[in-house]
Amino acid sequence: MHHASKLPHVGTTIFTVMSKLAQECGAINLSQGFPDFPIDEALTDLVEKAMRAGHNQYAPMPGVPALREAIVAKVQRSYGFAYDAEAEVTVTAGGTQAIFTALAAVVHPGDEVIIVDPAYDCYAPTVELFGGRPVHVRLGADMRFDAEAVKAAITPRTRMLMINTPHNPAGTILRDADMRRIAEMLRGTDILLLSDEVYEHLVFDGEPHASAIRYPDLRERAFVIFSFGKVFHATGWKMGYALAPRELMAGFRRVHQFNVFSANTPVQHALAEYLKEPANYASVPGFYEEKRDRFLVGLRASRFEPLACEGSYFQLADYSRISDEPDVEFARRLAREHGVAAIPISVFYKEPPPGQRILRFCFAKREETLDNAIEQLCAI
Ligand code: GLN
Repeated sequence: MHHASKLPHVGTTIFTVMSKLAQECGAINLSQGFPDFPIDEALTDLVEKAMRAGHNQYAPMPGVPALREAIVAKVQRSYGFAYDAEAEVTVTAGGTQAIFTALAAVVHPGDEVIIVDPAYDCYAPTVELFGGRPVHVRLGADMRFDAEAVKAAITPRTRMLMINTPHNPAGTILRDADMRRIAEMLRGTDILLLSDEVYEHLVFDGEPHASAIRYPDLRERAFVIFSFGKVFHATGWKMGYALAPRELMAGFRRVHQFNVFSANTPVQHALAEYLKEPANYASVPGFYEEKRDRFLVGLRASRFEPLACEGSYFQLADYSRISDEPDVEFARRLAREHGVAAIPISVFYKEPPPGQRILRFCFAKREETLDNAIEQLCAI
């Protein structure tokens, strides 16, 4: 029987590949991004409480009303704008599902979607799945947003621009000036924005998070995507949300109802309570900044050269002083021979810049894990 794949050039994601390799060779796993420490016990208690209270059946399709209300209040506190809980907020099974559903809702065959490489690995295949054409541009010098390159990629067929701040894998952030440039280049067009902000609150050195929500010109054309898994150290919960103006959200929900229908009920009840306390997320930047600094200081003592990390829980490091192997090979050897698994960032490009020798390390780990990894990395 012949069956033609809709994504013929897509293999297994690098996260699955590297985490498996780490397990096989007993390497410290700084590849796939997930914390190796427990979540807040108070949150565990809230989930238990919700289950015992009988919140175990389908949630309403767009999400438990109390959670949508709590999200609206939290977003208003953080970014100064109140979405309509009824019509403009949808709880999803993680950030990736929200991205998938947003693209499914608006991408028509032949539409162009601008993607800034290195880009999170689900963006381009999802665009293609719905007949869209990913148009790849690259981050500029020092892995910073290159507004000119993005502007030059806009055509009459551009349906959407996808941005990501803090950026995975780059670890850089978009600042106020970047957001203003984006608003300027989209003004007067019908181009939609997808702003992937799953690493909100993982922003360091006292910088504010320049959410698209803060900019009326952007917000009115945007799906803004968030993740509870990233902020509350629970990636396995696959719990996130999308915000968008009423009309865009109506289209999103038309797809969402046939995709997951609704997200996990007891976890939604727990998060509705937990989100009411701002201290629960206000502590996140400092918490991760300490981890970044610990890893960075260690890395500086090695032959790896760290790049600037302004946000996210990823640290990029150049290894050209150690080897001139391509990054996929070097990452494999690093795991097998030196006991540390990392992500080769060439996989996040349509065409990786020739000669780039950079790996991504996840520092969402206990101090002990980071120190052990540093010891290994310094021995190379
Ligand atoms: N977001 C995680 C990362 O970048 C991976 C999630 C996944 O494995 N799909 O490492």
